[in-house]
Amino acid sequence: MNEMNMPNWLKQRAFLTPDRTALVFEKRSWTFAQLYRNTLKAASALSASGIQKGDFCGVLASNKPETIFTIYALQQIGAIALMLNSRLTAEEIEWQLLDAGASHILFDPFHERKAAAISGIRSISIADFPDGKPFTPRETFVLDEPCSIMYTSGTTGRPKGVIQTYGNHYTSAEGSALNLGLHTDDTWLCAVPLFHISGYSIVMKSVIYGMEVCLFEKFDAKRINESLENGDVTIISVVTAMLSDMLKELTGNYSPRFRCMLLGGGPAPLPLLEQCRQKDIPVYQTYGMTETSSQIVTLAPEYALTKLGSAGKPLFPCAVKIDGEEEGEILVSGPNVTQGYLNRPEANEQSFQNGWFHTGDIGRLDSEGFLYVLDRRSDLIISGGENIYPAEIESVLTSFEAVLEAGVTGVPDEKWGSVPAAFYVADRPLSSEELAAFCSEKLARYKVPAYFIQVDKLPRNASNKLLRRELAAKWRDEYAH
Ligand code: ATP
Ligand code: MG
Repeated sequence: MNEMNMPNWLKQRAFLTPDRTALVFEKRSWTFAQLYRNTLKAASALSASGIQKGDFCGVLASNKPETIFTIYALQQIGAIALMLNSRLTAEEIEWQLLDAGASHILFDPFHERKAAAISGIRSISIADFPDGKPFTPRETFVLDEPCSIMYTSGTTGRPKGVIQTYGNHYTSAEGSALNLGLHTDDTWLCAVPLFHISGYSIVMKSVIYGMEVCLFEKFDAKRINESLENGDVTIISVVTAMLSDMLKELTGNYSPRFRCMLLGGGPAPLPLLEQCRQKDIPVYQTYGMTETSSQIVTLAPEYALTKLGSAGKPLFPCAVKIDGEEEGEILVSGPNVTQGYLNRPEANEQSFQNGWFHTGDIGRLDSEGFLYVLDRRSDLIISGGENIYPAEIESVLTSFEAVLEAGVTGVPDEKWGSVPAAFYVADRPLSSEELAAFCSEKLARYKVPAYFIQVDKLPRNASNKLLRRELAAKWRDEYAH
């Protein structure tokens, strides 16, 4: 066997540990043997519809078992899954399919209408695969072949298609296990979307580790808290908004079996981390992106308390450095980092230099090598020569009791060049004076927003990430004088 090859993951898993539980969804569960049988049925149907090795197939589907069968089925065929964010509009989805040169779109019934609105591409329902001819899966996976394509969230500009190889997914799962450890009774709760690397990577870990996944179709703070309280689950991946909803709903205590709340996807406000510390919730901050096939930096368990606010150190096979003296762009390298963007020579040239991937985020490393993510480079505010990070101000604002959400952007200022302006959503009318007074207690003067603007909602993209560039545009259009 060539050293870049590995046995077909799901086939191998169904051979090694056929009777272990692979997947739980609502009241149903599947062993790895059953999962493999369902997957082969799906692969047979998809291949009968003309899908071949090397084809790019859009997948527009919710967090359902059928979606997982489809993800594995495409791997059995050697087709590449282009995971589509179902919150995008039909036009945005069509653009991604065209950009990637996809041959098919696979959809679940819930997304049938959206899939039908896309012309010029064959669509196939994944709701119920018919029995077909026995299917012969691939014997081996080639590690440097593409497995999936995911578009970045489009927070800083137009989304870019990230090529994720089998090797990227494998080394990502391996790096995570070397950090978090792997227990035979681990169950990972997946309420993050399968179309994001956060969810997809849980499924890859499941097959590689032989680990149970507890799949949730929708995020439901109450039901998820129950799973963590009754000890059904040992690990969960969350983003800040999920964690803060879970804390609001939490009345009891999580089970001692529950060992890891993996928190990533965006800035983690310190007050939220402190609240978790008080409640003894094992939060692990993590930093990663579509381009790194999920985590690349994670805070190891023993530092969760002493390095509160840090995203941690790189996973074992990875490296991180800062482009600059103290603060600067975060550069990363490792076997889980993408080989590049699809059809984007310019972005590739900019982002990959001398073996390092330029993340577009700014951070600093402390003397022991712990990473603190400050913000996105494109959102940095330079005011009178001082660097201001919107995320820091947003974190202070959201710790004010009546403020539900906050977004900060730089706006032009004659004296300072640029000053921070805060947009916020609150549950009652607030005065700029009280917010300024509150911020002054917690922030250096130059960081206190010059303007406070109450709004009904903040602009967010399909991944629910704050679009600060739209706040800047709103300022120009409506408030600048
Ligand atoms: P685009 O690249 O199209 O602008 P995006 O960067 O939002 O979109 P993702 O790959 O989904 O797309 O998100 C990764 C980004 O999320 C990181 O580059 C970083 O800005 C942010 N992020 C992830 N983890 C953290 C963290 N722990 N702290 C702060 N920011 C984080
Ligand atoms: Mg990005």
